[in-house]
Amino acid sequence: MNSITDLLDLEDNDVIISSIDVQGQTKVLTLETPPTAQFCPVCGFRMYSRGVKKRTINHPILQDNYSLVLILKQRRWRCINPDCHYSTNESFKFVNKSRRMLCSA
Ligand SMILES: [Zn+2]
Repeated sequence: MNSITDLLDLEDNDVIISSIDVQGQTKVLTLETPPTAQFCPVCGFRMYSRGVKKRTINHPILQDNYSLVLILKQRRWRCINPDCHYSTNESFKFVNKSRRMLCSA
């Protein structure tokens, strides 16, 4: 487990690996963050979760002869303030950082 988080260079401290499935020669890792209260960066009202968007990334790095597939569960948020309705998707820093290495599917 530690070697995988090192491999991915997870700097988002709160990202957890919620499951690891091995399908043939492919390891499928599901990554998500624990649910925490979010507040609107625009008006400061609370935000509510609009659900989770799954994003699949084929990771080019092989580990122990397995290829790696990441499933990111990105939470979607919307401000409860009817005059604001700001919405945002959670992002994972490590994905943006290593975007050139990763190819989205
Ligand atoms: Zn707002």
